[in-house]
Amino acid sequence: MLGGSGALQVAVPAVLFLVGAAIGSFLNVVIFRLPRSESLVHPRSRCLSCGETLGIADLVPVFSYIALRGRCRHCGRGYSPRYMMVELATGLAAVGAWHLLGPTPQALLSFVIVCCLVVVFFVDLDHYIIPDEAVALIAASGVALDVLALMQRGRSVAVVYHEQLSSGPGYQVVLPASVVGMAMGAGVFVVIAFVAERVFRRPGMGWGDVKLAAGMGAVLGPGYEFFTFFLLAVLIGAVVGLVTMALGKRSRRDYLPFGPMLAVAGVVTLYLGDVVTPLVMSRFMLG
Ligand SMILES: [Zn+2]
Repeated sequence: MLGGSGALQVAVPAVLFLVGAAIGSFLNVVIFRLPRSESLVHPRSRCLSCGETLGIADLVPVFSYIALRGRCRHCGRGYSPRYMMVELATGLAAVGAWHLLGPTPQALLSFVIVCCLVVVFFVDLDHYIIPDEAVALIAASGVALDVLALMQRGRSVAVVYHEQLSSGPGYQVVLPASVVGMAMGAGVFVVIAFVAERVFRRPGMGWGDVKLAAGMGAVLGPGYEFFTFFLLAVLIGAVVGLVTMALGKRSRRDYLPFGPMLAVAGVVTLYLGDVVTPLVMSRFMLG
């Protein structure tokens, strides 16, 4: 028998998973409609094959997909399992945020960031665009996390530059880590984009990647976590690039969007930064 707290330990993650998956169901709509400049709330979702409006029962995340074996109730047309995977991932992200950060505003903001990264992942994969709306929400969440830390710790998590001049008084420069991180993220990626274009004679990164790097810079700050995020993205990109080429799914000249790699690296660094950052840093940094 589960005691009161035992039942709660099961109920809370279960409810969070369902809420997260329902939000994932909405993200599927966003991923489809945002790049087409369609309204996100109107009209109701319909089957892309027969045009029949989907009822509440069809919209219950994950379970309706399994119950209907991934087919439309009306015309029997099969849906891509991707819809269910987005719901599953978003549900797990909600549970993960709660598990790592507890019932805090930080957990909520982290979950919002992950939702934005899910949208970035699929929209860039489908359309080679990184939506500004998602990037702006990521950056705003990064600044909000900074403000929360400032309020709760009673001191700034700011970048402090302190210089004691040999003669005369010392001076300090205090800037919020999110703002410095944003500038650094954009700066690093602009340089890389510039160099990559000169070296490979074709654009390797777009402005969308630069903006996303600025947004993630606001979240991760200008420290080791950002470099972990960047190195992970490059590593994932290299592996995916080599594997898709080896499998004959892609020729050397086919464009491989970088946004999905950045999105995966962002989620990993955000949720598992405490574990991954020391690991990556000990591999790549000498001394
Ligand atoms: Zn249908």
